[in-house]
Amino acid sequence: MATETLFRDDAYMRSVEASVIGINERGGIILDRTVFYGTSGGQPGDTGTLTRADGRVIPIAATVCGETKDDIIHVPAEGAERPETGENLTLALDWERRYKLMRMHTACHLLSVVCPYPITGASVSEEDSRIDFDLPDAGFTKVEVTEKLTELVEADHPVFTRWISQEDLAANPSLVKSKNVRPPSGVGRIRLVCIGKDAVVDSQPCGGTHVLRTGEIGTIHIGKIEKKGRENRRFRLRFGAFSA
Ligand SMILES: [Zn+2]
Repeated sequence: MATETLFRDDAYMRSVEASVIGINERGGIILDRTVFYGTSGGQPGDTGTLTRADGRVIPIAATVCGETKDDIIHVPAEGAERPETGENLTLALDWERRYKLMRMHTACHLLSVVCPYPITGASVSEEDSRIDFDLPDAGFTKVEVTEKLTELVEADHPVFTRWISQEDLAANPSLVKSKNVRPPSGVGRIRLVCIGKDAVVDSQPCGGTHVLRTGEIGTIHIGKIEKKGRENRRFRLRFGAFSA
């Protein structure tokens, strides 16, 4: 039985009622629906709480994916009690953390616009994110990249999702920016994350959570551009103003 993944349609939903459909062999909690994102695609899973009818709280330390990205497993904190199958719970995200991840993740999309090179790795976190590009010679400075990112943030472009078919994706291979990670095939439809009116700024397959307007990202800068091997450059994104 699959979990209804509410964060895909509304990343701003922080709370919902759900019922337990199973507890796995490692104590992970499976619900009929959830607002918790499970770790995947470089974005960490959510933390938060599940509250029982009597008010007792089960802290959730991590959320991971099972076999597919539709299998969302809520991992309770060490020593926390487990709910019963069929029990109704009230879910609540650690919204402050998730919103930072949404802002950072969206900023990573903008970085891939400013630096249009194949991506070999990426990791989003609350304070500091990184993207590795297959880029033998930087030819970029932190200042230039920060300026271009800031322009895209300040333009306050809309961010929206659109579903396309496998065939559409096959006909537009340039939509895929990661070099090593292919979008899942055989799943029928692909979720595209688009930026700008009519997706003029960018569109790429992504299952993560994003803000609705680039302006929500706020002040951001490139903290570092590092050389990672002969053919890779690692760009580090940080919140706050650029400091020389
Ligand atoms: Zn994304």
